[in-house]
Amino acid sequence: METRNTKQKETIKVILSRPENRLHPTINEIIKMVEKEDNSIGQATIYRQVNRLVKDNILKRIPTKEGFRYDITSFLHGHFVCQKCGRIIDLYDKNYQVLITELENKYSIKIHESNLINEGICEECNGKV
Ligand SMILES: [Zn+2]
Ligand SMILES: [Zn+2]
Repeated sequence: METRNTKQKETIKVILSRPENRLHPTINEIIKMVEKEDNSIGQATIYRQVNRLVKDNILKRIPTKEGFRYDITSFLHGHFVCQKCGRIIDLYDKNYQVLITELENKYSIKIHESNLINEGICEECNGKV
């Protein structure tokens, strides 16, 4: 049973790691992706395995207005959520790590998780593309 669990978790991880799937899917989108690929994994199992991956710190949960979205990108980064179309863009910059380090020093804390979420209008909705 444990082996089967591990295998299912691994399958979900592999599917989510593909570049085309790194768009911060919702749980329903994850279920669709996994079912398309391996219909032996039931919905309840997908839910359970996704929660495990969150617990294991492999998947991150990003709260948005339409519910949680999931992110497998492991390096420290922030997010931009478009208020019009809902798309999520990863934001990273060398200064991001610098800022975290500075905050850690200033407050004598250790930051393990950073969920900087910025909301606004994306390039596409802004009519620039
Ligand atoms: Zn947009
Ligand atoms: Zn992300």
